[in-house]
Amino acid sequence: MASTGLMLPPPSVDQPFMHVSALEGGNIRILCDLVVDGNSQGESISCPSLAFSLQHSKTKSWAVFDLGIRRDLEGYTPLSQERIKAMKFDPVVNQTVAESLVKGGVYPHQIETVIISHLHWDHIGDHEPFTRATFVVGEGCRELLTSGYPIDPNSLFSSTALPHERTKFLPLSDFSVPIGPFPLALDFFGDGSMYVIDAPGHIGGHINILARTSSDGAWILLGGDSAHDYRLITGEKEVAHSIDSSGRVWCMHGDKDKAVENIARIRSLLGIPRVQVLIAHDSKWYEENKGSAAFLPGTIPPLAA
Ligand SMILES: [Zn+2]
Repeated sequence: MASTGLMLPPPSVDQPFMHVSALEGGNIRILCDLVVDGNSQGESISCPSLAFSLQHSKTKSWAVFDLGIRRDLEGYTPLSQERIKAMKFDPVVNQTVAESLVKGGVYPHQIETVIISHLHWDHIGDHEPFTRATFVVGEGCRELLTSGYPIDPNSLFSSTALPHERTKFLPLSDFSVPIGPFPLALDFFGDGSMYVIDAPGHIGGHINILARTSSDGAWILLGGDSAHDYRLITGEKEVAHSIDSSGRVWCMHGDKDKAVENIARIRSLLGIPRVQVLIAHDSKWYEENKGSAAFLPGTIPPLAA
């Protein structure tokens, strides 16, 4: 029994689950003072922009969560390219998500579903190799795309970032079940194997994945950019924000209060046995696991009972 009293639904008989693997999607540097409070200015940390493949244990259908960074930065909008330089993200893409899949023995055209946590450049990657996939995003992404570049030449988001005819925007009404600490979730396959979680605060439409990783009670939360540093999840650090000379509050998250609330929900998962939490830019996990069997064709081992 979890110390918090919080539980996730028990497995059914012959419970389907997801084989979850990490995928290299390029690396960036993140200035620490943008992410956690109390960092000295100028210090930066090298992080991955992780993506994940998820294969259903019964139907064997493939999904991917996030597409990392594209190699040709010219594919991003002019403002996005400017931000990448100004914020010294210094992206390096040794392997795109599509290349990571191929290296793991899976072709991008085999992917049936691509779920995108949110539309920022380091998660949207390049949709072109995924010729058959249905793209799934939060409803909040619709407005960012329809008003995106070039309609608004100063947008961070390209209106062609996703293939229109194959993109499904999930209305909030689809998030109709609560699960564990999350009030709004969607049982994606209808069999309890994988839930899409409404994870507000970062930018419009931000979603997470909560997937079962075994038939006997192990789970993983893929947190996208719910937090940019794992110490925010554990509570060791607080979300950075600053107030500029004109009194404007600046934060990595569009709505800091909602982001903090969402992080607190994720933190409460840590009190439940056999639940692993991974965020897209988890530098510590990456340093410990890069090149390991956690990456396709291997799988992230489910936490043991
Ligand atoms: Zn990011």
